[in-house]
Amino acid sequence: MFRRLVSRDEALQRIKQYVKLAALGVEEVGLRLAFGRVLAEDLVSPMDVPPFHRATMDGYAVKARNTFEASETSPKSLKVVGSVEVGETPTASLKDGEAVAVATGSALPEGADAVLPVEWTRKGENPNEILALRAVTSGENVMERGHDIKSGELVIKRGTKLNPRMLGVLSALGIARVKVYLKPKVAILSTGEELVEPGKPLTQGKIYDVNWITLYASVLEHGGEPKFLGIVEDDEEQIELALRQALEMADVVVTSGATSVGATDIMRNLANKLGRPGVIVDGVRMKPGKPTVIGVADGKPIFCLPGNPMSALIAFYNFVAPVLRAMAGLPPVRRRVVEAALSSRVLPASGRLTTIPVRLEERQGRLVAHPVFKASGAITALALADGYIEVPEGVKFLEAGEKVDVYLFEGEGKP
Ligand code: AMP
Ligand code: MG
Repeated sequence: MFRRLVSRDEALQRIKQYVKLAALGVEEVGLRLAFGRVLAEDLVSPMDVPPFHRATMDGYAVKARNTFEASETSPKSLKVVGSVEVGETPTASLKDGEAVAVATGSALPEGADAVLPVEWTRKGENPNEILALRAVTSGENVMERGHDIKSGELVIKRGTKLNPRMLGVLSALGIARVKVYLKPKVAILSTGEELVEPGKPLTQGKIYDVNWITLYASVLEHGGEPKFLGIVEDDEEQIELALRQALEMADVVVTSGATSVGATDIMRNLANKLGRPGVIVDGVRMKPGKPTVIGVADGKPIFCLPGNPMSALIAFYNFVAPVLRAMAGLPPVRRRVVEAALSSRVLPASGRLTTIPVRLEERQGRLVAHPVFKASGAITALALADGYIEVPEGVKFLEAGEKVDVYLFEGEGKP
């Protein structure tokens, strides 16, 4: 049973060589369905926002110069010649000495360059006469046409995941439909006779399936559309059946379990059997994540991740996430890094890239990283950690107090 372990970088290189790392396609959707989707075009504004000079206060549209030097004791008289309601088109244009009543959101009539707030005015003696009690400057209480967004301006870049605020901007521009990237469909499979779906009773010797949902949610986080195909026993024929079904319906297949020594032949054999070129990665010099098998069946990647939940997730972050993001049109994950001092000595696995989850603590304004050590197979290590450190292959140990880069979990996967 020959297995040549490769480094993480070599594994990534092979993925690049055999899998097309590009967006799968584009579709057009209405705004209601655009939330969380990835924009497939640079959105350029087709118009000015606001599309007209717009009053930002209730009061009177005026020529600012007609209010100069106005005061309580020496008010300036203005003649109200009409009004513009919100949503109305102004008709008449304003001449010297005139004012037009406006509300917040009204379009300014021609000739006006400021809004005199109603509380700075008083009724005059003649009908239609108001008195300006203070001066306004040109542009005061007016949002100029195009102040918010100018016609031709780049508003949202291609590759952006659309959030509610961005959708509001699109609607403000009168855009009802947008081009978004297709989501890669990802079939997920759990293997192992010991596994039980949550919600069902647990019998002696069994454990609840963890990977199905951590992988499912991680697929969502990185722009994919997950479909869980269920738990399959460690039986080559049954797994083969499930994998064939998975390849038919999905762009990417992710399995967990049945890759470690003994059971390893199952996934490797199957990954070799289902299409060309078969297995491209058969074990990686990583801890955790070593028994990761990656196959390609006629262009579609099959990621056979280890069963141990932490190993499965680390392997997912390293190998599956970049592929999904490329297919979904998302930019690569921007890992957020903080520097911290190690709280204790760390002995990484010799000759393997070691990932160690850490909990962060602030001590006198400095960050301290506490390695979270749990028995292999414990599922809380990642949940308790704030991030992780990576110790490269050749490093023998890290001393307590040594400065390390901590990659934070929070915010990971956000574009
Ligand atoms: P395997 O790679 O199948 O040998 O699994 C390694 C370890 O991970 C075993 O202790 C399994 O019981 C456990 N395991 C495998 N799959 C899962 C899963 N989906 N959820 C929780 N634990 C699992
Ligand atoms: Mg198993």
